[in-house]
Amino acid sequence: MAFITLSKENFYHNLNEIVLKTGSKDKIFVVLKDNAYGHGLYLMAKMASSFGIKRVVVRTTKEAKEIEDFFNYILILDDKIENNYYTYVINSLEDIKNAKINSKVELKIDTGMHRNGITFDALEEALALIKEKKLNFFGVMTHYRSADVLSSEFFWQQKNFDKVKKYIISKGYTNIYFHSHNSSSILRTNNFNEDFVRVGIAIYGFNELPNMFNKTKLKPILSLYADKISSRHLKKGQRVGYGGDFIAPKDMRVSTYNLGYGDGWFRGEYLHKRFVTAENLSILGRVSMDSIILESTKDKICIMNNAQKVAKQLNTISYEITTSLTTEIKRVVI
Ligand SMILES: *Cc1c(COP(=O)(O)O)cnc(C)c1O
Repeated sequence: MAFITLSKENFYHNLNEIVLKTGSKDKIFVVLKDNAYGHGLYLMAKMASSFGIKRVVVRTTKEAKEIEDFFNYILILDDKIENNYYTYVINSLEDIKNAKINSKVELKIDTGMHRNGITFDALEEALALIKEKKLNFFGVMTHYRSADVLSSEFFWQQKNFDKVKKYIISKGYTNIYFHSHNSSSILRTNNFNEDFVRVGIAIYGFNELPNMFNKTKLKPILSLYADKISSRHLKKGQRVGYGGDFIAPKDMRVSTYNLGYGDGWFRGEYLHKRFVTAENLSILGRVSMDSIILESTKDKICIMNNAQKVAKQLNTISYEITTSLTTEIKRVVI
């Protein structure tokens, strides 16, 4: 089976770049949802903790349980409130109504993305319900829809969030934390003044901002390798793989490597376009469930060491590339 290496050095480099923005490790939530964007939840949590990070964002209670020993504060984005131990994000008024008394919560505000969260108009009702339910109310957060594009929308949403902050403080909530920044928004911000940031993609080494904002150099931490299963000689004109899509233009020596769409690698996008690996080898013909064929006889091939470059080839974003890699692939820290 294919395997993944995670560079601790690059991870710490990325975290240090974020610390330069926030001024302190203590202001960072690392976002480890979805198996740490496919990098491996447990290993990433362990490394983040040894760097000195105390706060984490995950998607589910199940994820929280796996890494609870490493952090002081765990924020769960989207799951039924199960206990008083973790802090759960409130995504709607219904969430407050369904919450158990004394649950720990943070309130998500819809400042313009219109995906999840309480609108400004419903804020008064939400605060009243939180009181009625005696919830432990810790923080107020929002999420930007266009932090990674050059437009005024980002500033419009910030203004909307400022209005929310003022309102909540005016209602007498003085110990509430506020946080709005994800990776793109903290990377473009030079005067950070909130309590926390929630950084995902940047800690994994990707800066998705347009070049003019691209001042922070990050380093990808994940590399994907495949091992050789077998080699063979192909005669000119022989075809390779399902459908015989690839026809050898000359006599060649090719090998089959143990990575396929069963591992979360991609088959569809490049049926009509060659995919090129980190070592500049084209995948020949179709991707199988558990294998690909390359013109090489090396025992081990680096398929990718920069998911953003892969994303460009496949018309998607770095997030989708790494998140697709299945949990079964072995991961090692180097
Ligand atoms: C996923 C997520 C983040 C992290 O976003 P990045 O762009 O990866 O930094 C932050 N906040 C919320 C609410 C999220 O869902």
